[in-house]
Amino acid sequence: MSDSQSLGKLLASAQQILGKAGITNAAQEARWLLASALEMKPHELASQSEQPVRDERLARVLSVVRRRESREPLQYILGSQEFCGLDFSVTPAVLIPRPETELLIQEALREGGFGEGAVLVDIGTGSGCVAVTLATILSGMRIFALDCAHDALSVARGNAERHGVRDKIIWLQGDLLSPLREYAVAGAVDAIISNPPYIAEAEWAGLQPEVRDYEPQHALLAGPQGIEFHERLIHDSKEFLVPGGLLVMELGQGQAPLVRRMAEEVGGYTGLQTVKDEAGIERVLIARRACEGPAHG
Ligand code: GLN
Repeated sequence: MSDSQSLGKLLASAQQILGKAGITNAAQEARWLLASALEMKPHELASQSEQPVRDERLARVLSVVRRRESREPLQYILGSQEFCGLDFSVTPAVLIPRPETELLIQEALREGGFGEGAVLVDIGTGSGCVAVTLATILSGMRIFALDCAHDALSVARGNAERHGVRDKIIWLQGDLLSPLREYAVAGAVDAIISNPPYIAEAEWAGLQPEVRDYEPQHALLAGPQGIEFHERLIHDSKEFLVPGGLLVMELGQGQAPLVRRMAEEVGGYTGLQTVKDEAGIERVLIARRACEGPAHG
C-alpha cells in the first residue's frame, strides 16, 4: 500500500492482506474496516471506488487493516457488537457478546414468569449484554449486574446508558456473588443468570488468536476442568435463591453432563434441564432452587 490509492484498489489490497492473515470473511471485513475508518457506509464504497485516499484518511485505513491482520477481533476495532438486536460497545476490557448467549436470555424469560419486584442477578456482566437486554425487556424488576473487573463495569454502565436503562440496574464489583451479601437479598433472588468463564486450561493454546490473544483471559479461562465457576455458582446460589428461583448458566461444549451431575450431587435443586443451541450443543443449564432438599438451609 503506497502514499495515495484509489478507494477500489485500497479495498482490494486490504482484502488480500486479510485473506493472507487467515481471515475467512476477508472481503466483507475489508469493506467494514474501510467504511469505518473513512466514516462511510459500506455500500457507498463501491460507488466511490475511483476516489483517491491519501494522508490522514489513508493512515487510518492502514492502521485498522494492520490491526485486523494481526488478528485483533473486528469488534474491538469497530468498537461494537450486536446482541439481541441491540448495539453494545466493546473494548478489550470485556468479552465480545456471542450469539449463543442470546439463548441464556431467551430461557431465563421463558422459565421466569417474573412478577413485579422480582430480583434478577447477572454474574460476570462483562459488556452488560445480559443485564442490559433484560432491563430493556422487563420493567418493575430489581436487576443486579456483578463483575470482578472495574473496567468491565464501566463499559457495561456505558451500554446501559446507551439503551436508557442505567437506573434500572444496580452495579456491583467483586468476586462472583459475594457483593450481594451487602444487600438483604439472601433467599430472595428470583433468578441468577450467568455466562461464566468455561474454557479449560488445556484448551487455551488451541483457541483462535482473536480470542486467546485479545479477549480478557479472566472472562474465559475457568481452571483445569473448565467447570470450576459452574461449581461455585451451584454452591453459592443456594444462599440467595428464593425457593423455586432459577439458576441459568451458559455451558461449554460437552460440559452439560458434568455440570448436571454436579448440581445433583450438591443437591437443593429441582427441574434440572439443558437447552441446545442452534448447533445442537447443550448450551444452557436451568435449575430451580428446591423448596426442601438434602442440602437445604
Ligand atoms: N455476560 C457477558 C457475556 O455474556 C460476559 C461474560 C464473561 O465475561 N464471561 O458476554
